[in-house]
Amino acid sequence: MLFFGGIHGNEISGVKAIENVFQGLRSHADRVKGSIYGIRGNIPAQLRRKRFLDEDLNRLWTTERVANIMGKPVAERNVEETEMFEINALIKEVIRTASPPFYFIDFHTTSGKTKPFITINDAMINRKFSLLFPVPIVLGIEEYLEGPLLSLMNEMGYVSLGFESGQHNELSAINNSMAFMRLSMVFAGCLPKTEVPEFEMIFAQLKKAAMGDSGFYEVLYRRELSKGTDFKMLPGFKNFQLVGKGTVLAVQDGVEIKTKKNSTLFMPLYQDQGNEGFFLIGPVPKWALLVSAIARNLKIDSWLTLLPGISWSDETKERLLVNTKVARFFTKSFFHVLGYRNRTLGRSQMMMHNRERTAKNELYKNEWWFKSNGKD
Ligand SMILES: [Zn+2]
Repeated sequence: MLFFGGIHGNEISGVKAIENVFQGLRSHADRVKGSIYGIRGNIPAQLRRKRFLDEDLNRLWTTERVANIMGKPVAERNVEETEMFEINALIKEVIRTASPPFYFIDFHTTSGKTKPFITINDAMINRKFSLLFPVPIVLGIEEYLEGPLLSLMNEMGYVSLGFESGQHNELSAINNSMAFMRLSMVFAGCLPKTEVPEFEMIFAQLKKAAMGDSGFYEVLYRRELSKGTDFKMLPGFKNFQLVGKGTVLAVQDGVEIKTKKNSTLFMPLYQDQGNEGFFLIGPVPKWALLVSAIARNLKIDSWLTLLPGISWSDETKERLLVNTKVARFFTKSFFHVLGYRNRTLGRSQMMMHNRERTAKNELYKNEWWFKSNGKD
């Protein structure tokens, strides 16, 4: 298991949680099965209490960018590129020397008030592992973000969860990350439940912090902030807050930003550095999750290329090319159900990348949580 803290230098709760849990493990380290790594993220930024110094370390992990940075001369790398280089080398070393299954967990905090929540790419392995925790799960944020750290692990096909534990400097954010770390070690089989006598207590603690919400949500909208834009969120908004139609959320370059319909607000920005002003999310109904699990099991997408306007982009069959003029009946949500995420390629073409076909399900198929049906 690999735990990351402080990838955003102003989010040090994860770093502290990892240190605390490791301290506690010392006396019974011999009971640990497998290997547990704690990886400290953007150290130069952490030392200066900044989110980042040159650029956001959590936006560098696209395949192209990683290859580019790994091949760059040392002197030409900026602060975050240097951090990325070192972390990437470490991850590769762990994967090369340790034995699977692997679990990647990345700790974050938010600038606004929030209950704790999980973010994942919607592959079934991620969904099933996330279901073990009594917190809400937000799907699909990676379609809106370029190059978060976990996209790399998802592309390698491993279980990868982001955990947002609370507001940046709140003590509860550390406690929630510690609880999450301990629970995940037990769930993944790294630590026998008997070694965590406080298991029920910390489970209840997380459940209470999440206010009993353990539903699925999907990201519907992202307010992008281009460089130099003047953005000010109105005060007092909370993460997951329901906002009515016409509510003024923020002022951007002197213009009021209002909601077009009743919405659920997600990650409102209450700090200077950041590329997103806020997101809007919506609940995913239980039946939709069930339908999508069945559709993926049956690999219904294998038949899609028989239809006009849909073809495989190459022989690996991991990506679909969709001509949106011809295949106009198929909406984004239809492809989401089958486990695809989209990238628009110009006006009439979408590239659909399948999360299920890259997920290494066979590595996890003997794990108890993979075989179970989660909370239900
Ligand atoms: Zn973060």
